[in-house]
Amino acid sequence: MTETTLNDKNKGVTAGEGRYRALVTATSDVVYRMSPDWSVMQQLDSGGFLLDTGVPIKNWISKYIHPVDQQMVKDAIAEAISTKSMYELEHRVLMADGVTGWISSKAIPILDGEGNIIEWFGAATDITARKQMEEDLKQAMDAAEQQKRLYEVVTSNTPDLVYVFGLDYNFTFANPALLKMWGKTAEDAIGKSLLENGYEPWHAEMHEREIDHVASTKEIIRGEVAFPHATLGRRVYDYIFTPVINAQGEVEAVAGTTRDITEIKENEQRKNDFISMVSHELKTPLTSVISFVQVAQKRANQSNDKIAGDMLERAGKQLGKMTRMINGFLNVSRLESGRIQIDHQHFDLAVLLDEVQQDIASTTSSHKIVFEPVKETWVNADREKIEQVFNNLITNAVKYSPPGSAVHVAFDVVDNKVQVSVRDEGMGINKEDLPRLFERFYRVKETETNHIAGFGIGLYICSEIVKRHGGEIWVESQPGKGSTFYFTLPVVPSPEV
Ligand code: ADP
Repeated sequence: MTETTLNDKNKGVTAGEGRYRALVTATSDVVYRMSPDWSVMQQLDSGGFLLDTGVPIKNWISKYIHPVDQQMVKDAIAEAISTKSMYELEHRVLMADGVTGWISSKAIPILDGEGNIIEWFGAATDITARKQMEEDLKQAMDAAEQQKRLYEVVTSNTPDLVYVFGLDYNFTFANPALLKMWGKTAEDAIGKSLLENGYEPWHAEMHEREIDHVASTKEIIRGEVAFPHATLGRRVYDYIFTPVINAQGEVEAVAGTTRDITEIKENEQRKNDFISMVSHELKTPLTSVISFVQVAQKRANQSNDKIAGDMLERAGKQLGKMTRMINGFLNVSRLESGRIQIDHQHFDLAVLLDEVQQDIASTTSSHKIVFEPVKETWVNADREKIEQVFNNLITNAVKYSPPGSAVHVAFDVVDNKVQVSVRDEGMGINKEDLPRLFERFYRVKETETNHIAGFGIGLYICSEIVKRHGGEIWVESQPGKGSTFYFTLPVVPSPEV
């Protein structure tokens, strides 16, 4: 059938249809005309979106329709022809530039006076961008759904408590372990406040202030707290609150994880009790051995038995070491249980340092211990414990530096504080170890330190003693060059004379 004959047959087309064609042509990306059975595409104008036909073509399906959608298009056409009703479909097309696009296509049958289809008039709009957006959205939703499933699996199988607070302090998520601890279902607990979930007022208040802090500073908070478990009774928990930050960089929620550390705490307590008990039990026999050795040494000296005298002196020194070690353990357990007492008294630090110097001179010959000249400096502190800090730092300087090297001990008054320094020329300390040095039982794991005896409690005790005096303790060190340990104490005016 040619254009002319088709146009002749079109005589029955009304003025209304003509206007409809004009409107559709103006508002669509593509307009097309099809033969009554769709076997021939009479014409296609697309303004460059699809390839224009130019002349009527028969192979339009393979030219324009994406292979996957061809059958679907054929089915829709067959349906429209059999019902003589509008053809309407969204499907993929092969675009002019060779890539795949999407169109929303509609075609109406043009009927002659007897109701026979003369031709189909179609229009289509390019919906590639919308389809792409829908596809992206679907992918994002699938990914989010998958993430959610993943988090649910992870959080539902951990014994740790995992939860999220909204900024109004209400729970927006609680994992099964937390629900079990509360003895509640998600329906009962989600959207509820801390108080409504059974927290005591002080506890709820504390967490609310912490949520405010995390929200305003974006800082992570860590703490320890006891809470009554629904079935296990009172337990001790270690918790971390972390800010949940949105795309605009604002905190939109606070996520928390909590771990039951009751057993760790109990084990620690058992260990402390054990150390404390053993140290106490060892102290009594040690004290008697020390006095026996002293008496024996005196008698050896009186009877001019030099060999026995020397041996007993050495035994005495070793016993002194043991005593210091045991006292160290006792101090740790006292610190842990809060039983350590600071007996404040006014004294001149210069006098104490002089005593320390004499003590050290009589016990250490391997190093040059240089005590820099110091001025009278009064402090209000526990004399015995400050002496212990001096001894610990000087003993460490000797322990961790080669024989023959020098150790400098000095102090200076800066801003109403006395700043003591103990400097050595020893092995120094790696940067990674510096922050943990003052922790209980922390020892540097280096081949050089492996053979040096110790328990990692000296610096912990020093730091606790100094902190309890309102002072600070720190170290500056260069591996291979040496370390300087500093501590400060507030100074007080010298007493009236
Ligand atoms: P200990 O000496 O019994 O191991 P401390 O608490 O006194 O315990 O010291 C902790 C760790 O710090 C030591 O194991 C050692 O590795 C390191 N350390 C302490 N003082 C020095 C120092 N002057 N030079 C180098 N390392 C040191």
